[in-house]
Amino acid sequence: MNIGQETALYDESLISAYENALKQFDAAARVLKLSPNQIAMIKEPRRVTEVLLPVRMDDGRIETFKGYRVQHNVARGPAKGGVRFHPDVSMDEVKALAFWMTYKCAVVNVPFGGGKGGVVCDPSKLSTGELERLARRYIAELIDLFGPDKDIPAPDVGTNPQIMSWFMDTYSMHNREFVPAVVTGKPLDLGGSEGRIEATAQGVLYTIREAVQHLNLDLKRCTAAIQGFGNVGSHSARLLYDEGCRIVAISDISGAYANEKGIDIPRTFEYVEGAKDRTLAGIEKLLPLMKFKDPNDLLELDVDILVPAALENQISIKNAPRIKAKMIAEGANGPVVAEADDMLAERGIFIIPDILCNAGGVAVSYLEWVQNRMGYYWTSERIEQDLSRMMCSAFRSVMETSQRYKVNMRIAAFVLAIQRVVHASEMRGLYA
Ligand code: NAD
Repeated sequence: MNIGQETALYDESLISAYENALKQFDAAARVLKLSPNQIAMIKEPRRVTEVLLPVRMDDGRIETFKGYRVQHNVARGPAKGGVRFHPDVSMDEVKALAFWMTYKCAVVNVPFGGGKGGVVCDPSKLSTGELERLARRYIAELIDLFGPDKDIPAPDVGTNPQIMSWFMDTYSMHNREFVPAVVTGKPLDLGGSEGRIEATAQGVLYTIREAVQHLNLDLKRCTAAIQGFGNVGSHSARLLYDEGCRIVAISDISGAYANEKGIDIPRTFEYVEGAKDRTLAGIEKLLPLMKFKDPNDLLELDVDILVPAALENQISIKNAPRIKAKMIAEGANGPVVAEADDMLAERGIFIIPDILCNAGGVAVSYLEWVQNRMGYYWTSERIEQDLSRMMCSAFRSVMETSQRYKVNMRIAAFVLAIQRVVHASEMRGLYA
């Protein structure tokens, strides 16, 4: 392939996350030789909903926001998936994220289908009151879709435990009863689970540990670069740091920062917690850090572990030839574009695919849902033990599938997950 020519015509902003997801599906479907009937049952989303959400703003104006909820597949259980509040949310993106949830739940073998939601908004520009009215309106408008046995939202980019509390309260008020199991990622005092906040990052760490062993590396001697310093990125940085790994670069919406001797992550964590906008902006004035001119350069650093933990489509055919990491642990959903996968594989870069790597969040969401339904709550030790078992077992099953079918880890994860979803669909059969 002539990279120069290809990249000259290439524009990341035109990459469809959903088309990317379908290409991943097709590659695994070819390996499994799925029949057209099997494909018809599981490839496309089952229910796609778009709503307009009118919200009274603080100055008295009424502003309308676009909201989405997609239920991709519910063969294995109720739809499960986060709600994203971000200016770039689109139906295409929500469909892709819902698709990935179906297969992520199947990879870690939790009894859920796949769903996802989103609202086109910039939460950093909304007051707390406006955010609350928007969150409540979203749930109220779509209330028939949701329920502990129908569809269970959770946090994603731009949403947090406070927003989950408003979701849960709105649903509970409509039902005239306390229904904590309708939402996961709640605060502990409202039926949240121990370990949920850092669950995704904890899962990222467990899968990195397995991959490090597979590649004969020593985590204590590894270097890492982490893109995104929100829930997934910041906790991944902290957990890797605690393991003795040297974090040499981090980034968020404010820019990318590096120190090849290693970044003091506990102090960085404290800085962001205390910052009004909870970003890294200005951190280079406090710690010995170099700020990159182009934040995307972080992705191309010569490190052992690269953790993209921000948004989709970060590694494309444009920058794939320059990626030097030995391993990419996909904390974010869809950070690598399908075409770039083969290029990375050819260069021997080991990928822990998103539907495996960041499945710790939904695994602990499942434990939260179970605890809500029992009304009995487990200790953090119990949650950690269950999460570790689920993640390590999923990693090993994907690795075995990869070796059995002689495919890379991403295709293997889809092969494993698709087999489970197909089996559930076929056993249920078609009603009427
Ligand atoms: P978040 O909103 O807490 O954090 C997102 C981070 O990315 C922020 O630090 C933001 O500043 C940064 N960011 C945004 N644009 C950026 C850019 N262009 N360059 C660098 N940084 C940028 O969101 P999160 O919950 O941490 O989610 C991050 C990713 O992980 C998303 O893809 C999400 O779908 C996925 N994910 C999250 C969870 C979870 O439990 N939170 C679970 C599974 C997957």
